[in-house]
Amino acid sequence: MSRTYRVGILGATGTVGQRFVQLLENHPQFEITALAASDRSVGKPYMEACAWKLAGAMPDYVKEIVVQQIEPPLDCDLVFSSLPSPVARETEEAFARAGFPVISNSSSYRMEEDVPLLIPEINADHLGLIEIQKQRRGFNKGFIVTNPNCAVMSFAPPLAILNRKFGVESVFVTTLQAISGAGYPGVSSFDIIDNVLPYIAGEEPKVETEAQKILGKFNDGTIEKADFTVSAQCFRVNVIDGHTASVRVKLKQTSTLEGVREALENFPSLNLYSSPKPFISVCDEPSRPQPRLDRDNGKGMTITVGRLFPDNIFDYRFVALSHNTVRGAAGSAILNAELLIDKGLL
Ligand code: NAP
Repeated sequence: MSRTYRVGILGATGTVGQRFVQLLENHPQFEITALAASDRSVGKPYMEACAWKLAGAMPDYVKEIVVQQIEPPLDCDLVFSSLPSPVARETEEAFARAGFPVISNSSSYRMEEDVPLLIPEINADHLGLIEIQKQRRGFNKGFIVTNPNCAVMSFAPPLAILNRKFGVESVFVTTLQAISGAGYPGVSSFDIIDNVLPYIAGEEPKVETEAQKILGKFNDGTIEKADFTVSAQCFRVNVIDGHTASVRVKLKQTSTLEGVREALENFPSLNLYSSPKPFISVCDEPSRPQPRLDRDNGKGMTITVGRLFPDNIFDYRFVALSHNTVRGAAGSAILNAELLIDKGLL
């Protein structure tokens, strides 16, 4: 019989923390045994500490769990981290050093050369970095694994598939990012209603660099980054959940439109509990994908691609959409942990 792993959530009261609580209810491999957040919340039962913002009621099973400090040890086998980056840097290392596998959403360690930046369907072989990380940092049982920035998650999967099949030379991407991507309370309603904000602090550099690591080759103990350039503009838009990316891509080898479409549609999903089927959904309706209508495809784990056409300047253009707090955060972290179990690394 398969084992149940006890998990702690760092940043449990936040936007992503709440999504973890929701997605882990009745999960066959994980059981929440510890919740941690800031001093504001420590010592309170979760139902008092957390202003629940997801649709549906807060699950009963977490209501009475008392929120703890974000300090090891916690009563669990691994931690999911959804802490703000500056806090995450020190805390995640402390947990890894104390022997806890850390599955992180924050940007603190994503670009470190010995830390996997994982999309299980795309680069599961990057898990080979864990042993190197443990040796280099003197970790014993603990380690850190990260998932991509939530906007990168919308377009990196289709890009990875095109790169594998045809080679990618350059990418121009414009992201239209949901309000929940900024956490709670995020941007003020006065700023976002009737408006589009053309600046998200620190976002464009992440969007311009993470995909090359994700699509890189794991070779001789290091990631050889993919050699294409990305030019990005990131906007905050008046949408609650779901990041949209408008992408133009230049390929190294020519392909027909049908060839591009087939490569995206036929890319396999995995056989893990949270793997969506399909991994990529290609839609033909001219007005899709739309955040409100398509973000929940595959329980929020499918990437939806539409508006796929030849482009007048680049080779092809398309629109990609993913749910930022599910596929772009908690759902991806949970999928990463399922992959670690599958590979015997937990
Ligand atoms: P959030 O809604 O602001 O939640 C932050 C969480 O961290 C809360 O639980 C908060 O606890 C806790 N926290 C804040 N400062 C702390 C401190 N000094 N010590 C201990 N705990 C502290 O933010 P979020 O949107 O969930 O984002 C969390 C992380 O995930 C960030 O690194 C973000 O970049 C990343 N991420 C977010 C998304 C998204 O779509 N939102 C997607 C991918 C990645 P209290 O409630 O007690 O203050």
